[in-house]
Amino acid sequence: MNAPLLPDPAVHVDGVQEIAPDLLVIPNRGVQLVPNIGIIGGTHAVLVVDTGMGTANAEQVLSLASTVARGRRLYLTTTHFHPEHAFGAHVFDGHATYIANRAQADDLKTKGPGYLEMFRGFGSPVADRLDGDVRVPVPDVVHDDGYTLDLGGRTVRLRPTGRGHTKGDQVIEVPDAGVLFTGDLAEAGQFAIFPWFPPHDTDVSGIGWLAVMERLADNGHRVVVPGHGDVDGPQLLADVRDYLRELRDETWRRRDSAMDEGDVLAEVRALLVERHPEWEGREWIEKGVGCLCAEHPA
Ligand SMILES: [Zn+2]
Repeated sequence: MNAPLLPDPAVHVDGVQEIAPDLLVIPNRGVQLVPNIGIIGGTHAVLVVDTGMGTANAEQVLSLASTVARGRRLYLTTTHFHPEHAFGAHVFDGHATYIANRAQADDLKTKGPGYLEMFRGFGSPVADRLDGDVRVPVPDVVHDDGYTLDLGGRTVRLRPTGRGHTKGDQVIEVPDAGVLFTGDLAEAGQFAIFPWFPPHDTDVSGIGWLAVMERLADNGHRVVVPGHGDVDGPQLLADVRDYLRELRDETWRRRDSAMDEGDVLAEVRALLVERHPEWEGREWIEKGVGCLCAEHPA
């Protein structure tokens, strides 16, 4: 995360795509720190999935969602607490009911302020997006084991997955359309993002994440909206699962033969870059190896 290299994380709502009837995705267009954002409609309500980072981005998303809703009630949910996914939710205050899972609400409360501080330290243009009235959001409704939201003729399921990319990930399923929003549990065209920042943040779990992907890959979703990267099919879930297996197996094999962690990192990185030469975000391999070096079979 080298601040000067980060582009402006601007959401472009004019690129919105209808991936199923009354189901829109504002694509991230390959820009770092811009998530894919969903707008899911039923006959009497509309659910927004993720906000983009900061006030100006979220205002655009709310404006589009309100136009699309044409008077239908608005709901908001976020896939996890990271700033580009959730730190626009304050804009929805008074306009939408914000629903999140308990573990994510806890992440927002305990880790949100530190992440706001960290991202404000990235300098322009990322810090500019978090200027002014941006604050860590507090969900209106918190669920423990999942939430079924009836939008009218369409039911959406908010499912906490257990610890993976963060402690509080949840996925959003739209069963009638076969669509799954994964948040950062899956990314297209890049290495899995491991927010492994010891000693400040060590909540990501390679083992937990792999277990989540093993379940998701078997669930028969037809369309997968990743946290970042192009909308894809179910193969994306299998690809992420397989990558996490590779990362785990290659890391553990070397660690368990008493290899020095620096050598483990260099070898695993070289191997995975060779296997996935087209993927971006190679810096995340190092974080993934670090995370898995600290984990052990259950
Ligand atoms: Zn994330």
